[in-house]
Amino acid sequence: MPFIFAFDHKHPKAPMELKDLLGGKGANLAEMTSQLKLPVPPGFTISTEACRYYLKHGWPEPLTKELDKAIAKLEKTMGKKLGQPDNPLLVSVRSGAKFSMPGMMDTVLNLGLNDKSVTGLKNQTNDERFAYDSYRRFISMFGRIVLGIASEKFDKPLEQIKEQLSISSDSLIPVSELKKLVELYKEIVKQETKKSFPQDPYKQLRLAIEAVFRSWNTERARSYREKENISHDLGTAVNVQAMVFGNRDDNSGTGVAFTRNPSTGEAKPYGDFLTNAQGEDVVAGIRNTEPLSALQKKFPNAYEELLEIFKRLEAHYKDMCDTEFTIEQGKLWMLQTRVGKRTGRAALKMAVDMTKDPHIRLTKQEAVLRISPEHIEQVLHPQFATKNYKVLTKGLAASPGAAVGKVYLSADKAAQANKDGEKVILVRPETSPDDIHGMLAAEGILTARGGLVSHAAVVARGWGKPAVVGAQDIKVFDNYFQVGNYIVKEGDYISIDGTSGEVVHAQLPLATDSHPKELDIILGWADQIRGNKISIRANADTAQDAQVARNLGAKGIGLCRTEHMFLAPDRLPLVQKVILAQTLEEESAALNELAAAQKQDFEGILKEMDGLPVTVRLLDPPLHEFLPKTEELEIKKATTGLTEEENKLYRAALFWKEFNPMLGVRGVRLGILKPGLYSMQVKALMQAALERLKKGGKPIIEIMIPLTISKAELALARSWVTQAIEQSKSTKLGSLKVSIGTMIETPRAAILADEIAQAADFFSFGTNDLTQMTFGFSRDDIEGKMMSKYLELELLERNPFETVDKKGVGYLIRLAVEKGKKTNPRLKLGICGEHGGDAQSIRFFYNVGLDYVSCSPYRVPVARISAAQAVIDSNKELTKGSSQKKIRK
Ligand code: PEP
Ligand code: MG
Repeated sequence: MPFIFAFDHKHPKAPMELKDLLGGKGANLAEMTSQLKLPVPPGFTISTEACRYYLKHGWPEPLTKELDKAIAKLEKTMGKKLGQPDNPLLVSVRSGAKFSMPGMMDTVLNLGLNDKSVTGLKNQTNDERFAYDSYRRFISMFGRIVLGIASEKFDKPLEQIKEQLSISSDSLIPVSELKKLVELYKEIVKQETKKSFPQDPYKQLRLAIEAVFRSWNTERARSYREKENISHDLGTAVNVQAMVFGNRDDNSGTGVAFTRNPSTGEAKPYGDFLTNAQGEDVVAGIRNTEPLSALQKKFPNAYEELLEIFKRLEAHYKDMCDTEFTIEQGKLWMLQTRVGKRTGRAALKMAVDMTKDPHIRLTKQEAVLRISPEHIEQVLHPQFATKNYKVLTKGLAASPGAAVGKVYLSADKAAQANKDGEKVILVRPETSPDDIHGMLAAEGILTARGGLVSHAAVVARGWGKPAVVGAQDIKVFDNYFQVGNYIVKEGDYISIDGTSGEVVHAQLPLATDSHPKELDIILGWADQIRGNKISIRANADTAQDAQVARNLGAKGIGLCRTEHMFLAPDRLPLVQKVILAQTLEEESAALNELAAAQKQDFEGILKEMDGLPVTVRLLDPPLHEFLPKTEELEIKKATTGLTEEENKLYRAALFWKEFNPMLGVRGVRLGILKPGLYSMQVKALMQAALERLKKGGKPIIEIMIPLTISKAELALARSWVTQAIEQSKSTKLGSLKVSIGTMIETPRAAILADEIAQAADFFSFGTNDLTQMTFGFSRDDIEGKMMSKYLELELLERNPFETVDKKGVGYLIRLAVEKGKKTNPRLKLGICGEHGGDAQSIRFFYNVGLDYVSCSPYRVPVARISAAQAVIDSNKELTKGSSQKKIRK
């Protein structure tokens, strides 16, 4: 297979399906050229395979010949030659990975210029100033990107010239100064690299291609991929394309535009545009851009053509497209298109609108597939919880949601402050990929310059971080920023609203509201598609959580952690009394007090979830969590002394102290030591159910035993539960069916699931503990210290506490499902670890055959969408593969 493909290459498939090979940009350039016949400057793509080869073994030899051939073809098409003094061909060299990584990798423009061809460009264009401006831009870009010279080296002399001449814009620098700059830049290259600036265009090209290959592995690209879960193995393609010049003159320009509004979803083209500029100027946010309406006024013909192209792009891609275009002396050129990134609000609106659009006609299934978990999370993002504030300044609303934090003015300081536990708002003149670590660390981002497609806006939107960009009244200095005469110091609290663009010099309270109507429409479709194939429940411990969960679409509670009910300040002394009881009578009296409190809680939860199953887990965590820390009491003992009560507590705390509490007296083991506790909980639950029945309610109860390791252990615990149920029985309770099951949280339980299933009505996989115990990774310690290193060194693909580890933990789950069903075919199966709200994990749980997933209330909508997507994908698989296949794999 060749390494190079021209944009008009006849591929056996539609090029847009060849992103693995051509990268996203290359695939779409080929699609626009060969399928849509749009005005695209000719060029070719060097495949991702060449990059992968290069990164492993160095330059692939056959590439040299292929490159010569591809250039010769391009020269013929353009009627110009690379480096030809009187008629030079100039090209751009751009990266383009399979998945878009905005601004993460490198681009070189104007390649092919040298001391001779610059005069050729002058003659071609009849514009000496343009020729030398292009040359100085090329040397600095090449110097920075290919030769690794710091950009300040080139920026400083440029700024000095502008200062000396008292001009603010680059476009006003006279040609005589540009010529001097070219000489100076070449000198800088020589000083910095000890070699002359390469005059041979073929050498320039080869070096530029290698630099783009290498840019795949820069730190900023790697951290972006880690955040976005993009594999480090893919490599990037390189696109070499004939240059067209948006900075040719005032009859030229360049822009970035979306076929619909990527922020609101409104079905109207949206974009930023600059006259007499190169693409980089728009994206970098160095100059403030104009809206598309300005394009319509200045270039009416190009504008009409662009809108026509937008219609064709949408009909072809069946989606909103993001484009880059250039106008060179009135002629429109399309430089790039791709399916555009969008905010959650826009994604929902577009998905719903496009089902009705006669040119697109999405099906409901396709519409559901368009929504990612991030989209849903974005619309559930917080907003300012008060209307009582003074707006300091306003910028563009670039990424929705409100954020509050302390101002930090550099990415390094922001990242450090975040490490120190502070909430941070990163404030920058504009952002570049070098700021990525600061952006990652920030709650929100505020920039003084740039448009809605600037780096800060695109990245923040992709991550669902609130951002306000282009707040032009802000001037950013080292330790403060200024709006007029008003100063905001580094470390001050500010609040920003990425939905309205408002900036406030105060620490405002936040609340979650929004909820666009399209969210309910899409979630409704998702539920229809999912049918009863897999159910979504919530983990909720209070009536309030249960209410939120039900409102967000949960069909029951998969985990009520009863220990959470004990942690309230008024309950703690009650539990402590149980622990401190010296005699059985004392213990039983204390338990009765506790039972009364628990009954009330259960009643509230059962009421909120009336008619839906509620899984109540009997007490799980180690008792030491309910006792004061021994260290604190020791200090008090040595200083002010302890009261009698405190002395008792201290002795109890010492008695229950464990070296490894997560593997100590936890879960059912605690029940074994204190069976009265479990009995009390079951009785309280039964009384609550009785109250609900009396009030005409329909409680459905499942009682769950945590952390089991064997059938005998579960059978014993089950006997206490049934006994407590028997003891609480009244005529009314007789009609209440209670199922009793266990969590599968230890590897042993998974391995012996066939035995354990004989004593269980259901299994609920506690994937938090199962992950902890399968890996031997402490769930409380490893994420803080070890996980990032493991991910960085690629020792793990994903954080297994976030996305279920299919190979290890997943193997145990699959095994337990198969074994459990064998001895108890009616066994109900669910999962209630944190993974229940993670899209990828949900897909796995569905495929393995679980009946429900249970996650935190706010993740329920994400789970509803993800589960529907899993169903759609598995249906596709089924129709693709054997139609007889019944078992989901
Ligand atoms: C689990 O271990 O996955 C679980 C849900 O229980 P907890 O997080 O309360 O230990
Ligand atoms: Mg657990």
